[in-house]
Amino acid sequence: MENRNNLKILLCIIAVCIAAAGGFYAGRNTAGSQKSDTGSAVQKDSDTEPNELQLLNREAVSHMSDEGNTILVIGHKSPDSDTVCSAIAYARLLNLLGYTAEPRITMPVNNETKYILEQAGAETPEILESAAGETIFLVDHSEYVQAADDMTDAHIVGIMDHHGVGTVNTGHQIVYEARPIGSTATIVWLDYMNYGFEIDRQTAYLLLGAVLSDTSNCTGSTTTEADRKAVPALAEIAGVSDAEDFYKKLHERAMSYDGMSDMEIMFSDYKEYEAGSVKYGIGLMNSINEETSKELAERMKNISKEAMASRDVDYMFACAGIREGDIKVDYIIPMSEESRQLMEEAFPNYDEYDGTSFIFRNGGLGRKTKFVPGLNEFFAAHPHE
Ligand code: MN
Ligand code: MN
Repeated sequence: MENRNNLKILLCIIAVCIAAAGGFYAGRNTAGSQKSDTGSAVQKDSDTEPNELQLLNREAVSHMSDEGNTILVIGHKSPDSDTVCSAIAYARLLNLLGYTAEPRITMPVNNETKYILEQAGAETPEILESAAGETIFLVDHSEYVQAADDMTDAHIVGIMDHHGVGTVNTGHQIVYEARPIGSTATIVWLDYMNYGFEIDRQTAYLLLGAVLSDTSNCTGSTTTEADRKAVPALAEIAGVSDAEDFYKKLHERAMSYDGMSDMEIMFSDYKEYEAGSVKYGIGLMNSINEETSKELAERMKNISKEAMASRDVDYMFACAGIREGDIKVDYIIPMSEESRQLMEEAFPNYDEYDGTSFIFRNGGLGRKTKFVPGLNEFFAAHPHE
């Protein structure tokens, strides 16, 4: 009798364990089985079952505080290809994980992103006018000043980024994934593998375009082995036989400011930053050679008053950068006298000042790697009164 009772107890324990393990591994809702509602991102059934680590990774990301609301995945203002394509691809990954998620953008896309979306046959995400009251997953930024309007009134459930930690903060737990690598798209690619999901052809195409764009075809200074590995892996799935040629086409689109006003060029790849009480903005533009940089510099100088008046910042700079193979040259155009003085004080090591631009010839003054860290360091050492 006693033996039978012991057996019963043992069976009960085993049953509970199996149930717990089942729930545990199932993760969130229908992890792995749900199709994306973005149409073409239909996941084909994996040939190989996810392994234990991949199931654990899925489980660990299955507790976001979305409360069953649609998670809007969104990148920064003045959207670039990484911000837009990563938002689309990550929203699809969240769908696969069982979340209801959709991509959004902050503003219309640039010429290069438009080309990627068209070639991929992907729809351009809707513009989110206000983030107030929305459930948000941020990609490619973590600064309120770079985020969609009213982001301080949003419920943020996650951040995926490859920049410095910004001003966004939450009291509650979030998914926070940052890597010091070349593009957010590379992190999304890694996550598909970490969670054991296959990438569909269209998503691979979008991610490939984003990696190539953000790393300047893996020549940018933040490029890592992960980015370099992502390119051929994604190209194969996307059916792109010549990634080099794809990048050339992207580069042509990125260089083309056809039909854009000087103000539109200034703000096409523009970001704002906060350092203590100081706010500053940097607008990047692509240039082919120093002649083009000088031309762009004159045009930006001519609209400097209008540009300064249009944004609530203390300092503003335009940056006409040349990135051709190993050549990295930056023309930094201060958009006000105060901005010019700041350049003199914070970056006295420039190669030349031609009356309009501070010229950095040896490796340039990359916005993410040198310009922003340098300014933040300067402001930390010289606090504003
Ligand atoms: Mn970006
Ligand atoms: Mn990026």
